Amino acid sequence: MSDIKYIDDVELEGKTILLRADFNVSLNPNYLSIADDERIRQVIPTIKYLLKRKNKLILASHLGRPKGERVQKFSLQIVCNQIKEYLPDYDIRLIQDFLTEPEETFKNQKENEIFVYENTRFYPGEKKNDPEFAKKMASHADVFVNDAFGVSHREDASVVGVTNYLPSYGGLLLKKEIQMLSMILKKPEKPFVAAIGGAKIETKIKVLDRMMELADHLIIAGALANTFLYAQGIEVGASLVEKDKAELAQKLLFKAAQNDTSVILPSDCVVGNSQELEYGGRVCKISEVPKDKQILDIGPETTARIGTIIAKAKTIVWNGPVGYFENIHYRQGTDFMYYAITNNEDAVSIVGGGDTLAAISKKEYLEKLTHISTGGGAMLEFIEKGTLPGIEALKK
Ligand code: ADP
Ligand code: MG
Repeated sequence: MSDIKYIDDVELEGKTILLRADFNVSLNPNYLSIADDERIRQVIPTIKYLLKRKNKLILASHLGRPKGERVQKFSLQIVCNQIKEYLPDYDIRLIQDFLTEPEETFKNQKENEIFVYENTRFYPGEKKNDPEFAKKMASHADVFVNDAFGVSHREDASVVGVTNYLPSYGGLLLKKEIQMLSMILKKPEKPFVAAIGGAKIETKIKVLDRMMELADHLIIAGALANTFLYAQGIEVGASLVEKDKAELAQKLLFKAAQNDTSVILPSDCVVGNSQELEYGGRVCKISEVPKDKQILDIGPETTARIGTIIAKAKTIVWNGPVGYFENIHYRQGTDFMYYAITNNEDAVSIVGGGDTLAAISKKEYLEKLTHISTGGGAMLEFIEKGTLPGIEALKK
């Protein structure tokens, strides 16, 4: 199998390029503005690189989950407006329906025009990876570039299907994501600390399993930790816990012991009730969680332990908030994680995950992180498998 070629490995000039980006940004609750445009910002270098070489661009992306139907609140118009902010000299034109758009439009695309296909998930063919749909999408371009790491774990038409019809390359962001994540899989500088939080154990099992092999220290926090605590016989009160996964948690802990990975679980916590916004939360030992209360954040003793470990790390991977950060009373642990990681300037640090990025998006010192992965699920799957379908599709 050959390796991927990236856009800076080949000469791309004067072509029309279909660029799959991941513009699946988080929107504000009214759907009228973008909450965090990190994903747009990170693709801009690829767009500029291609434009500089006199290529014409057609951008494609999904936004939200419109499930094969035209759902106006998920229109990419909002994304077009934001791209314009970064490329004021270009006209960013939304193509409402590329299936019916007259051929003339594409023939007459001007040097200073960027076309954007309307949300790929407005079409049922996208998620089905329908060959006819992919072919049509590819038909207006000479070359395909995938810079959408965040969806490269999906076998969608705009990610995998189109590569059957066009010479296909990886973009600069895809390259950066692959290089950064491969480094932690291949030769991470030690000590290597992985911190995994979040809510559901199901979505994190595989990455936890892999981290048991790779990491020197594995910090397990968030609601996820409750299941591990429960598996060790600790009463977790009314906390979110997946009791049917207790045996699995035990197996994982056994694997950690076999691999000499030290697992750090919370020893104290902040308890409360996630529904009651007023109640400020109370710190208690992990063995003393009241029956009617939930564990909603890690406590000061746990943050201190975690802080020491992170301060000494040379490689850090963090995915998943360590508490119910949406409520200000329970976001201290998550904030602490962030500051502990950004404070360790000697370490290579990689942070990813939709909710994790939302938790840190407006913070100072973001530049101190080595890499903010634009992939949530994609990052976890890449760590697990070392590749993704969208990446494999570029190897043909
Ligand atoms: P990411 O999207 O970064 O991978 P997840 O989706 O796995 O993160 O988890 C994020 C969710 O986990 C958040 O909604 C957060 O409130 C929740 N969470 C974390 N810790 C707790 C906890 N102790 N109790 C309840 N929910 C929690
Ligand atoms: Mg999430």
